[in-house]
Amino acid sequence: MKELYTEINKKLYYFTIIVVIAIMLMGLLVDNPYYSQDGVAFFLHGLFLTIFAISLLLYPRYTSHNSRLLIMITAFLYFYSLFFIYPDTWSNFIFLCLIPAISILFFDSKLFYFSLTLNSISISMTFIYIILVDKGAHYSYIQDDLVGNIINFLGSQAIIYFIFYISYGRLKKQQLYFQQIKQSERLKTTGQLAAAVAHEIRNPLTVVKGFLQFYEQSNETDEKLKKHFHLMVDELNTAEQVISQFLSIAKPTKEKELESVSVKQVLQSVTDLLHSYGLLHDNQIELRIVDDSYIAANNIEMKQLFINIIKNAIEASNIGDSVVVSASKMKEFVEINVKDYGQGMTEKEIESLGTPFYSLKSKGTGLGMMICFNIAENYKGKISFKSAKGEGTTVTVRFPSLI
Ligand code: ADP
Ligand code: MG
Repeated sequence: MKELYTEINKKLYYFTIIVVIAIMLMGLLVDNPYYSQDGVAFFLHGLFLTIFAISLLLYPRYTSHNSRLLIMITAFLYFYSLFFIYPDTWSNFIFLCLIPAISILFFDSKLFYFSLTLNSISISMTFIYIILVDKGAHYSYIQDDLVGNIINFLGSQAIIYFIFYISYGRLKKQQLYFQQIKQSERLKTTGQLAAAVAHEIRNPLTVVKGFLQFYEQSNETDEKLKKHFHLMVDELNTAEQVISQFLSIAKPTKEKELESVSVKQVLQSVTDLLHSYGLLHDNQIELRIVDDSYIAANNIEMKQLFINIIKNAIEASNIGDSVVVSASKMKEFVEINVKDYGQGMTEKEIESLGTPFYSLKSKGTGLGMMICFNIAENYKGKISFKSAKGEGTTVTVRFPSLI
């Protein structure tokens, strides 16, 4: 709700409240029978009016559930006191029926149900008072047709309930829509930022690659060193391609090249790449491939997928624990399992995976799993999780296998 609370809304609120307070003051000051007769009744009316008006005026500064509750309680005090101070003014009964409608303006469902309940209790006590104590002396317009008045009261509460139900539902939908727009806006800016960063990284990469290729081909370079240069150029190529792929995810329109990807090769190269990353915290990556199989996908994207999953597994692991990566061929699909014995996740955390920017790490981006889900979906794959807090996680990736 806060985001919808703009300056314009604030101005409108104050304008409405000032009109309401002016009308209430008219009720107190214009042709009031107690003005010169009954000092106590006049004072009470003035007191409840002041409290109600102040709580309404202060609300925009303290927009909490408790301050809304305070407004509703003061509204109850104000309108019920009017009903008892001015028994001849039968239209006060209308206000009693309408009190819960005030809470609709705050879009606070708890407050609404509270007001509806409080009003039903208060009106029941009022009716009992009229029947047993007043006996129709001051409130003959209620006593004379008690059943009719009770039915009217119930009817008014039902109408208020329907108005609340419909408008609350609409507002909820609008709020959701607003959040979605905000999120897609955020994604768009991240995409643009990523594109800018990728562009900046690409240029130095090209320069470094150019020099490496030059030394690799130069006759003066030692043959042994040439092999290293070749490896370096290869890694730079991968880095370049990863950047391109990341950009292509930001712009999904670009067609991706389908190839027959060897699961064994992908996992081997990814685990080799992450080997030194694992060693930072003494984590070994154990690779157990039962049988090689092929899937129709894109090599680089498959690497990206498993880099993200295995990196997460390493990051969740305790010092010294291993991460086990295994692959096996089932009837029509390939199943790859990445198992860690680390911190694990709760059901709720698993549900949040893939939400952009969801990360529990201080330096996490919260984009890794989103990219994984995206890649898996592109190649008809499925990612599932089995995890227990404190015990570890098994991430299972399934793809339809070729042949
Ligand atoms: P990042 O790694 O940048 O935080 P990810 O999208 O890769 O973003 O992961 C999102 C979150 O999911 C992580 O911050 C982590 O809390 C949780 N997570 C992912 N994989 C695991 C795992 N194997 N064990 C425990 N938590 C995990
Ligand atoms: Mg990650």
